[in-house]
Amino acid sequence: MKIKRITVWQRDLPLTEPYYLSGGRLKFERLDSTFIRIDTDEGLSGWGEACPWGHTYLPAHGPGVRAGFEILAPALIGQDPRGLESINHLMDVTLPGHPYIKSPLDMACWDITGQAAGMPLWMMFGGDEAKAVDVNSSISTGTPEEMLALIEKASAKGYRTHSAKIGGDDVKIDIERIEAISSALPAGHQVTFDVNRAWTPGVAVAVLNSVKARDWVEQPCETLDQCAHVASRVQNPIMLDECMHNFSDHLNAWSMKACEGVKVKPNRLGGLTKAKQVRDFGVSVGWQMHIEDLGGSALADTAAIHLAASTPDANRLASWLCHYHLSDDPVPGQGARNQNGKATPPAMPGLGVKGDPDILGDPVAIYGD
Ligand code: MG
Repeated sequence: MKIKRITVWQRDLPLTEPYYLSGGRLKFERLDSTFIRIDTDEGLSGWGEACPWGHTYLPAHGPGVRAGFEILAPALIGQDPRGLESINHLMDVTLPGHPYIKSPLDMACWDITGQAAGMPLWMMFGGDEAKAVDVNSSISTGTPEEMLALIEKASAKGYRTHSAKIGGDDVKIDIERIEAISSALPAGHQVTFDVNRAWTPGVAVAVLNSVKARDWVEQPCETLDQCAHVASRVQNPIMLDECMHNFSDHLNAWSMKACEGVKVKPNRLGGLTKAKQVRDFGVSVGWQMHIEDLGGSALADTAAIHLAASTPDANRLASWLCHYHLSDDPVPGQGARNQNGKATPPAMPGLGVKGDPDILGDPVAIYGD
């Protein structure tokens, strides 16, 4: 089987409400998503999506995905999409780095491989059933009262795990946010305080050693070294996210005792192949993981839910579904959706979500025949 054509679409995905990231770094109102379809000479086609979470969250941006395809797509034409390790090696030697560009190509190859094998992706990743996994809300930063109102709204939709964004300019308000939210949380609910790297190590140690709450704290500081420094001086379990770019970062985090868990995001790591390597390592060392993508429609969300559903319960916390923050749904009726706080991956072979050219409109690029 050979890849014969790669078709690329761009779509703006407007957010239902402007999103404020911790640390006052930005407010954004739309995401720039790229959809691809890989066609093969045997009639099978696979879909992928790359949708960075704005352009200030990670070294990734929407137009960069399409620019990278100009180099990567021609190299993949003629390759067997089922040779995932070879496909990833070829992408890495053709364009070192730039993991977010490779992720949708890897995703579409997995979709084809699953279809060729007659297996859904959760089974390809080692799962034994289309397991319903917990989904978590994402609570934009604000006053403690505003954030609690958002948590109440999310709870009404079935969410029992919440990711509350903190890390503002005023440390006192962060302390208030943590104490107010932690103590008001409904029974059976969990919260992670996501600092999105806004604190210096000194602030992190001061805040976390002054609050009573012992909930998870995510990415307190910019770098892995700084987070490891904090982890050794506080009692809260630490989750790492933005500073984890490749397998070595995870190995280092384990060696440095920097965290008790990580966010596994295929688009940040370079695709499902590399996300699965990290997931498997995390299971080996006993980490607890949130498995979700960086952003995008229900197509990208569903790919991550396949990986989450194949992860042992003890190592899986929850998964965030970006598409509930969007006012546009380019794959209506398809994929893993929130059903009272749970999402279930499709049972059909492959990814189980297909883009619709009638909805996506004219392609922005076509590589191959
Ligand atoms: Mg995070």
